[in-house]
Amino acid sequence: MTTDRTVAASSSTRDDRRLRIVLMGAPGSGKGTQGRLLSRKLGVPTISTGDLFRDHLRRRTELGVTVAGYLDSGEFVPDVITDAMVRDRIGLTDAVGGFILDGYPRTLAQVEALNGFVGEQRGSITAVVALEVDRATLLERMRTRAQAEARADDDPEVVIRRLEIYEAETAPLIEHYRSSTRVITVDGSLEPARLSAMISSRLRARE
Ligand code: ADP
Repeated sequence: MTTDRTVAASSSTRDDRRLRIVLMGAPGSGKGTQGRLLSRKLGVPTISTGDLFRDHLRRRTELGVTVAGYLDSGEFVPDVITDAMVRDRIGLTDAVGGFILDGYPRTLAQVEALNGFVGEQRGSITAVVALEVDRATLLERMRTRAQAEARADDDPEVVIRRLEIYEAETAPLIEHYRSSTRVITVDGSLEPARLSAMISSRLRARE
């Protein structure tokens, strides 16, 4: 892993045209779907902290065992764990052209940690894409997803808790980013392919 990180870090000193996109939005707003679609269009990986944690859970790694309780209850995993995982992941060679982050940063401390990591790459965040979806739609989507995927944290009480935490901790970060970073706000209730086309055209346009 260290080798991979070294490769990525040394190439960034020569060229910092990496695309670094942050997807923001409530649970159920479609970050996962847009991450997948944009990843194909832009040719950079989507890094989902939720997916990374769930992968650790499935493989029963030490990290997976440590974070299980947080995921089950919908609470945030401590920053020290999440930050280190993200730093390692964005340093891998497949992220040499950039990355799309889904589910990170979620706290002000994580915003600052991320700024530090991209600073190490001598770069900055290209844009924050904020997906806006009303609460009724979010609840309905997560109800449907709970039936299809049986994610433990799609249990109704945990869903409400995740929405509350999002509103209190993460939504304010969108305003915070506006002072330093381009924020593209889109209607997350649009049909996924149409929304992804809209996001990529707005990313290309100089606003
Ligand atoms: P959603 O966006 O639908 O709530 P995710 O799949 O992004 O779900 O995250 C699932 C869980 O993983 C969260 O409820 C939390 O426990 C943990 N998690 C994911 N990203 C972070 C993060 N950036 N900081 C702390 N915990 C996180």
